Amino acid sequence: MTTDTDLDDLLAALPLKSPREVYDEIEAARRAAELAPPPEATIIPMPEYPYMWPHPLGGIVRFPCALGCGWAHDEDAFEEDLEPIIVPLGGSTQDINRIFNERSLQRAAVVRGRIETAIRDHFTAAHPGREIPAREAR
Ligand SMILES: [Zn+2]
Repeated sequence: MTTDTDLDDLLAALPLKSPREVYDEIEAARRAAELAPPPEATIIPMPEYPYMWPHPLGGIVRFPCALGCGWAHDEDAFEEDLEPIIVPLGGSTQDINRIFNERSLQRAAVVRGRIETAIRDHFTAAHPGREIPAREAR
């Protein structure tokens, strides 16, 4: 019981689960977690956001050297994506959704590649022979 009668009514309307149903749900979630692929590793460090909007550099996302040497690679998240997106006239919602998803994945791959190249180039120049630390990509 709560002090909110509307909430009490809502809670009363919810179907009560048996302990067995709750256990089965927890077991199903545990099994799904076991079957999930292991998280991928990435050499891209967690980003920093050195400037907050409305600062003119508010779109800067900074990827600092994982060894803490002071070097960082900056990406401008507000940078225009200059390539036009072509959407067919009369395209369905699914078509438009697919086109935007493909563009998003393509752009993410380009940005990820640019950051990884900058990090590899930095390690070659500044930390020769050192392995680039990786972390779980989330
Ligand atoms: Zn470094």
